[in-house]
Amino acid sequence: MPGNGIETEQSKAFYDMEENKNPQGAANEPKEEAKNLNFIEEIIEEDLKTGRHKSILTRFPPEPNGYLHIGHAKSICLNFGVAKKYGGKTNLRFDDTNPTKEDVEYVDSIKNDIRWLGFEWAEERYASDYFQQLYDWAEELIKKGLAYVDDQSLEQIRLNRGTVQKPGTPSPWRDRSVEENLQLFRDMRDGKFKEGEKVLRAKIDMAHPNMLFRDPIMYRINYAPHHRTGTKWCIYPMYDYAHGESDSIEGITHSICTLEFDVHRPLYDWFIEKLGIFPSHQYEFARLNLTYTVMSKRKLLELVKNNYVRGWDDPRMPTICGIRRRGYTPESIKMFAEKVGVAKRDNIIDLSLMEWCVREDLNARSNRYMAVLDPVELELEGWPEGQVDWVEAPMNPAFPDGPKRKIPFTGHVYIERADFMENPPKKYFRLQPGGEVRLKYGYIIKCKDIVKDGEGNITKIICTYDPSSKPGAGEWRSVKGTIHWVSIQHAKKLEVRLVDRLFTEQFMDQIPEGSDYKDFLNPHSMDIITAYAEPALLEDNSGIAVQFERTGYFFKDPDSTPELPVYNRTVTLKDTFKFK
Ligand code: ATP
Ligand code: MG
Repeated sequence: MPGNGIETEQSKAFYDMEENKNPQGAANEPKEEAKNLNFIEEIIEEDLKTGRHKSILTRFPPEPNGYLHIGHAKSICLNFGVAKKYGGKTNLRFDDTNPTKEDVEYVDSIKNDIRWLGFEWAEERYASDYFQQLYDWAEELIKKGLAYVDDQSLEQIRLNRGTVQKPGTPSPWRDRSVEENLQLFRDMRDGKFKEGEKVLRAKIDMAHPNMLFRDPIMYRINYAPHHRTGTKWCIYPMYDYAHGESDSIEGITHSICTLEFDVHRPLYDWFIEKLGIFPSHQYEFARLNLTYTVMSKRKLLELVKNNYVRGWDDPRMPTICGIRRRGYTPESIKMFAEKVGVAKRDNIIDLSLMEWCVREDLNARSNRYMAVLDPVELELEGWPEGQVDWVEAPMNPAFPDGPKRKIPFTGHVYIERADFMENPPKKYFRLQPGGEVRLKYGYIIKCKDIVKDGEGNITKIICTYDPSSKPGAGEWRSVKGTIHWVSIQHAKKLEVRLVDRLFTEQFMDQIPEGSDYKDFLNPHSMDIITAYAEPALLEDNSGIAVQFERTGYFFKDPDSTPELPVYNRTVTLKDTFKFK
């Protein structure tokens, strides 16, 4: 049976175990650091101590081509978190170098999501702000003999790159003169060529063991209008050229990115060194992966576009706006990011850790109400017709003297169908023929009879009640089971969306070859039911998810109307997180 006792005990156990802030971290990371810093914090402390940097500036660099997801939230918490911890600042930089996929809709949603998480950036920047500077630096590299215009197609370039074992084949255009390269690059900029006809490449080493050094592409032609610069530019810098240079322009001290960029780091350093500009440095941490979900923007976009979900903010989505709509709080997400730690090796985090965090946060602060999700009628024999008792109950049992709500009690209530069993197993402490339970905040009742329809379904449970068992009425008598209820006459009808895991597979990156990730969509990821709640719920203005007692946390959805409030299940009460 769900209950708060379980949560409290488990959370305590978790905290006891949580000495190590870096639970997923590599075993060979230094352990002697008493302050228990993550490895990025260690680097920053060292840099401050040695005077390499006087202050810290980080950046969060989203590409505005989709909505942010929980993985980005991890990166936001890290970038903004460390800067804040060391008195530094964080820029928000839109990495908008690919006009084909980017849109201002995404820019707005990204800003909104970061603010919702509770972070404020020092400056809002765009890689596109730097197009002129990046262009000028490209000319500088050409003049230094470090870049050239290549006429090969992208396909030829790819084929000529060689393999790890085999050196690449130099382009026939590799040894163009500086003058010719300059002229051609300017012609590229001036729109004299078609897309794909020419690219600008850095001239490094076609036999380099790091494939990225085999004359990486710096610029390509693209005539798609850009969401900020319009048609001013028809050449766009590639990530490897734009990113480090943008960091350097802003004076970013610690450029934190995910692990897959570690092979790019030498190239990041190469451009900065050859241009002799501010030496930003890149550090990599493991990207966040979660069970039972996908986080690739391409897949999330497909789910939205093809109506597998109701939008980017569908409460089943791992997007920040989705989990917000589901009822996650910024506090719970920050707690989650903290618990996940900063690892140097890739790993997959159990979704139940995230659920644990939101439960922990909501348990402490959410208002309680009773709601019955799968109702069956219960009638109290001998209850005076028309009598309504108003029961007072705390909004949160942690604060018995805090705010209260008034709950109407009558002789006709709904209880959960699952709280009654005709032929119960041993240790079933809820209602059963001849058995007693307490109606939460109310009387002890005893089951006397049941009424069934023609098909044998129970339609009504008839009970007697013990008038002396009313809380506060006399000596407290305890019974093993307590169940929640809602007075039928006062019940408020709700639509409840039982939000669940979007996918049935735990490890979506390990699905069998040949199958499509969409084959694993959970058909019960959002069952919709009608539920009945105590009237005070409709007056709730806490702004966060509420607890339906004994059931779970639920958050009011914007689809609500005055006639029909809609609630999304944030998380069930029962904690399934296993401590390893
Ligand atoms: P794309 O596939 O479009 O490159 P992306 O997930 O890398 O997607 P970006 O907008 O480039 O998206 O990411 C912004 C920042 O968030 C980057 O620094 C990136 O490393 C970080 N980030 C993205 N996904 C995760 C994740 N799962 N865990 C941690 N950080 C992430
Ligand atoms: Mg990216």
